Amino acid sequence: MAVRAMVLLGAPGAGKGTMAEVVKAAMPVTHIATGDMLRDEIRAASALGQEADGYMRQGRLVPDDLIVRMVMRRVDQGAPDARYMFDGFPRTRPQADLLDRHFQERGAQLALVVLLEVTRDICLDRLTGRRVCRKCGANFHVRNIPPLVAGVCDQCGGELYQRPDDMPETIERRLEVFKEQTAGLIDYYSDKGLLVRVDSSRHRDETVPDLMQAIADRHF
Ligand code: ADP
Ligand code: ZN
Repeated sequence: MAVRAMVLLGAPGAGKGTMAEVVKAAMPVTHIATGDMLRDEIRAASALGQEADGYMRQGRLVPDDLIVRMVMRRVDQGAPDARYMFDGFPRTRPQADLLDRHFQERGAQLALVVLLEVTRDICLDRLTGRRVCRKCGANFHVRNIPPLVAGVCDQCGGELYQRPDDMPETIERRLEVFKEQTAGLIDYYSDKGLLVRVDSSRHRDETVPDLMQAIADRHF
């Protein structure tokens, strides 16, 4: 068996992280969330983290070569038959091209790209209300998925905080960046026959069965 991967594609706030948690609970898969990896690097004050921090605070994309190196290093550390779920990667056409090239060289296969479709209003609401656990990274929402105790993570008791890029002005920029730099990947993967669209504007309990069906259909 060769390395296999799937991609979760969608605007900020589309539910990539939430759906990734569901898939992880259902099957053995290594979750590669580039945003989370970058936030870990920032916390560790690594050279990569220091470079990424400024871009992220402004809601801009981190340069392609940094991202691709970081992702492929992780893939190369894994087992030769590992399954990966990319979340927030690729985000630009050059990233997608480089991923193709690396996978071709390794005999790895991209099995499907799930597009989580949402309206702009839902993205805005989800991002402005989002709270994240500092310790374990779990996501909550002040109204839709409130923690049992305000400001405290249900799972680990860690402190909940608002990501600096979840401030209203930065959210606008991130949605623009998605339209300008990432949305082109929809046609790119659709032309390759890899794209599956899932309506992610519904409650997660309604979205999950469609996502799991797509994964099963593509024998991921
Ligand atoms: P969201 O999808 O909600 O915007 P992420 O955690 O995936 O959240 O990304 C947060 C930020 O991290 C992005 O705005 C960007 O600055 C940076 N980032 C994450 N993934 C990538 C990527 N593949 N390419 C470039 N920048 C990235
Ligand atoms: Zn937690």
